[in-house]
Amino acid sequence: MNHFKKIFQTLLVIHLFLFAACLGFQGLNAQETRQAIPKSQILGHANWQEERDYIGLMAAFSVVYTDWQTADTHPRGYNIGCVLVNNGGEDALPVYWARNSVNFVNNKTQHGEVRTLMGYSFQENLKDLTGYTLYGTLEPCAQCSGMAAMLGIDRVVWGQDDREYGGTMVRLNGDKDRISPCVTLESTQTEYCWEQPFPKTTGFTQPIQITAFWDNFGLLLEEGYQIYKVQQKCDPERGCMVDYLYWGPVRSLFEDIYGTFIHYTVQYETENQEFYDKAKGLVTEAGQSHDRNLGVAF
Ligand SMILES: [Zn+2]
Repeated sequence: MNHFKKIFQTLLVIHLFLFAACLGFQGLNAQETRQAIPKSQILGHANWQEERDYIGLMAAFSVVYTDWQTADTHPRGYNIGCVLVNNGGEDALPVYWARNSVNFVNNKTQHGEVRTLMGYSFQENLKDLTGYTLYGTLEPCAQCSGMAAMLGIDRVVWGQDDREYGGTMVRLNGDKDRISPCVTLESTQTEYCWEQPFPKTTGFTQPIQITAFWDNFGLLLEEGYQIYKVQQKCDPERGCMVDYLYWGPVRSLFEDIYGTFIHYTVQYETENQEFYDKAKGLVTEAGQSHDRNLGVAF
């Protein structure tokens, strides 16, 4: 992880310096940016589940890296992707991967999460995915969060928060501590409150568990996004997350995660060695095909 941080920070500092030089060092304070990153480093994982989440996320980042799209040419879509883990408790294994393909399919609903969840459930003829875990590089949007909820996904773990399109998993979970619990529809003056998780009726035994994976690369991606937004003068309302994910320093970070993943040594071998081997197999497969679902109608 320290390796990621050094490389990404170096690239960010270069960009920052060039940007600041262009603007006469106005508007951005490098020291403040540096201080936003915690000093702690990950020396090991506290338990096998934590390490499994780490492996699952690294696999999702690696799936994206193996078919990197650039700002100039992005025939597939955005640099966002997922890995799905089946419902097997401690014996659960990664079973599927997919990437965002909005351009290839020419359809803006074709997010990495949608293509993972639908691709696998159709392939296996599964009506729901109760107990499964979805690992994604970016926090899911409303569409993908809803699909995960309807399919009964147990846990959704993501590497980077999405300030513009995120927050919906929290709403689905009815977490009133993090969001305003009520909203009033202007047209009918109907008040909707998040008093309980969605879905609230039968069919699902528990709300989706969410995990914002604020590991170092999540923090680095967030820090980079704050810099990029200023540099690119992004619309503060709409943001520019998907454009940011084409950025050179972001590619370098994904590349570093990929390198670490490929050479990773499992800490909790009994629980996670097979999990890691399977995840590595999926990443290899993702690297050998442009996108295995492309062109296949759901
Ligand atoms: Zn989505």
